[in-house]
Amino acid sequence: MQFLHWIKQSIGSTSLGNQPEEFFMHLARFPRVFLAHLSTPLEPMERLSKELGVEIWIKRDDCTGMSTGGNKTRKLEFLMAEALDQGADMVMTQGATQTNHGRQTAAFAAKLGLKCHILLEDRTGYQDGNYNTNGNVLLDHLHGATTQKFPAGHDMPGEMERAAEAKRAEGHKVYVIPGGGSNPTGALGYVNAAFELLGQANDRGLKFDRLVHATGSSGTQAGLVTGLCAMNAQLPVLGIGTRAPMEKQENMVFDLACRTAEKLGCPGVVQRSDVMANTDYVGEGYGLPTKSGLEAIKMFAELEGILLDPCYSAKGAAGLIDLARKGAFYGERIVFLHTGGAAALGGYDFAFDFSRNWVTL
Ligand SMILES: *Cc1c(COP(=O)(O)O)cnc(C)c1O
Repeated sequence: MQFLHWIKQSIGSTSLGNQPEEFFMHLARFPRVFLAHLSTPLEPMERLSKELGVEIWIKRDDCTGMSTGGNKTRKLEFLMAEALDQGADMVMTQGATQTNHGRQTAAFAAKLGLKCHILLEDRTGYQDGNYNTNGNVLLDHLHGATTQKFPAGHDMPGEMERAAEAKRAEGHKVYVIPGGGSNPTGALGYVNAAFELLGQANDRGLKFDRLVHATGSSGTQAGLVTGLCAMNAQLPVLGIGTRAPMEKQENMVFDLACRTAEKLGCPGVVQRSDVMANTDYVGEGYGLPTKSGLEAIKMFAELEGILLDPCYSAKGAAGLIDLARKGAFYGERIVFLHTGGAAALGGYDFAFDFSRNWVTL
């Protein structure tokens, strides 16, 4: 009680205490479950930097915890807290067959004692056994989630609403999480990541010139851009696309960044020109491995001992590598945000040829 009294007094005595609450950059006012392993490491990639002639650091959001981690863990800390706040006993979400977001949601649901149902869209058409049952799908099922499959191009948000209504009719309290956890609540996780990264950089006397990462459903980039703009960090973010064409991707990120800034209490802090995406590395489509992505996986694995996934982080890294080779980052210090995804590798083994690795000595 004494402690509470002290907290109230100290809040009352700061000048911030007199400002309307909506001006706070204080994320503690939003419900959150603290399950992520934070802060994630910020590490130099010396061998890759030497290879590319550009100084590149890596922010290890592949190490956030919850069933091997990845970027959805930060979003789910806020989303799952909202689910609990609303008294949900079940969460529902959707994604592609090898969705990392679905797997991380299943892990959170297990930890918090909620049921979890995942709607999977077959966006690749792969008949491969491992693709359909191994990797993230194996982990979904290990965490006790139920799954349901739909053909590509299906109205997944609509299907999810129908499925949620069916469960509500059975008496469940269902909390629906959009694909990728990308809404203003989820994006708060990456507002927080922006604070964390800038703090780490400042503590180590590092000034980064650019932040590069894979962008998809847009919550990661929207949260980062909002947090960095709110702090006036002057750190440009380049999202490397994994699905949509450039204009569509940038508009998606900008729209969500605007809504996130509003939720945060700093509407208008993000300008359209703060949102940059390069979508030259998508290849034939979402979830389909590319040659440059597979090369990036090998380079990160063999030079840095770091695992990427073919769907997202490899395409982000392929953009990073190609742009570095072309001199686009000349003289810059880059930080690459590793968004995770290696749990999908077991579902993509068909994309690799390791015949050279089997040797007879
Ligand atoms: C979901 C995901 C992304 C993309 O993040 P968004 O917030 O959806 O843009 C990138 N990398 C990995 C490994 C992911 O699972």
